[in-house]
Amino acid sequence: MSKAIVSSLYDSEVFRMACRQFDQAADAISLPDAIRDRTKYPRRCLAVSLPVRRRDGSVTVFEGYRVQHNLSTGPSKGGIRFHQDVTLGEVAALAMWMSWKTSLVGLPYGGAKGGVIVDPNQLSEGELEHLSRRYMQEMVNFVGPQVDVPAPDVGTNEKVMGWMMDTYSNHVGHVASAVVTGKPLSLGGSQGRREATGAGVAYLARRYLEDLGLPITQATVAIQGFGNVGSETALALARAGARIIAISDYTGGIHNPRGIDLARALEYVRTQRTLRDFDGGEAVTNEELLELPCTILAPCALERVITAANAPRLRCRLIAEGANGPTTNEADRILEERGDIELIPDVLCNSGGVIVSYFEWLQNLSNFYWDRDEVLTKLFAMLDRAKDAVEAQRRKFKFSRRLAALTLGIQRVADAKQSRGLFP
Ligand code: GLU
Repeated sequence: MSKAIVSSLYDSEVFRMACRQFDQAADAISLPDAIRDRTKYPRRCLAVSLPVRRRDGSVTVFEGYRVQHNLSTGPSKGGIRFHQDVTLGEVAALAMWMSWKTSLVGLPYGGAKGGVIVDPNQLSEGELEHLSRRYMQEMVNFVGPQVDVPAPDVGTNEKVMGWMMDTYSNHVGHVASAVVTGKPLSLGGSQGRREATGAGVAYLARRYLEDLGLPITQATVAIQGFGNVGSETALALARAGARIIAISDYTGGIHNPRGIDLARALEYVRTQRTLRDFDGGEAVTNEELLELPCTILAPCALERVITAANAPRLRCRLIAEGANGPTTNEADRILEERGDIELIPDVLCNSGGVIVSYFEWLQNLSNFYWDRDEVLTKLFAMLDRAKDAVEAQRRKFKFSRRLAALTLGIQRVADAKQSRGLFP
């Protein structure tokens, strides 16, 4: 009987949540003990101090992390988060989910995640650039096109990826586009990458509505989070004919049963930075938004927002997890017992982002660029394949959709580790 001997390095609510998901999936597929803990725990992590000179001449030291969970199936892959609540445990959980996600959709990658404890809204553009470059400088020996390939996540964007690519390229002495994905088009970014996650969430939500026999033109949608993922999901679903009745960001939400004018909301956010005081509907809190009656509820912000407290009160037909880890283990159990809400789990639902990141990396490595149609056609084909695999697994073993997705992802990682053997 093997037993992991591990410290409390990653211990946190969110890491325990990711571990409970893993344990449940590993039990469900009877993953042998000898491979279980190897597959479960992160391979390695790096914690760094990042001194940044501020506008007033003072210096602030920020703390940053990179957790590489799995490198057995290819270079590790995953975003970098800039957020004031980042913890090492959270980054580890997010890295774990990246492993199952890349594996589920069949990408030749492992899983990783990075984070810096910082509220990027409090930084000037110059400070943000300094911080981004310093982070990459510290990561130079830890990442690379064949080692670990970062990308955007909450609080980072293509501009940040551009600075990181430049920092890494300067260090190695040549253009190394493939070291990060989610870059500006001018630096080897891919057509369609910016909207990829939201486009994928919307595509899968539509496909699942079709399965339920519900027309998209009669669907109402509540979206928590109006960053890259939330806003692109909203736009894509609205274009398909759905009515977006609620949106929110960390300052609060807006509810308008007649439908929100997304173009106005986006313009408002562009000039005001947040949705605070946007007059396109009635103000609601983020908690109230989750419980609004709607067809599709898309949590597209942070982890652990659907909980034991609100799961019994949700009034949607379909949950599309644009965020990573939005549903706690207890809420999962409650939703399963209820049986009246379908759930598209995060590792499937938001995989469009990392799928197009993979396309970007391929284009960088081959120096041959695709047009937008090609990117989106290939993206939707991969999502269809992943969805079909999840549904087949679900039917075969009578699993929940989350368990079906996780067992597929975890099995592939475990199989690769098994085949590679233990060295030495
Ligand atoms: N941060 C995104 C995610 O959580 C994208 C990762 C990537 O493109 O590597 O899936």
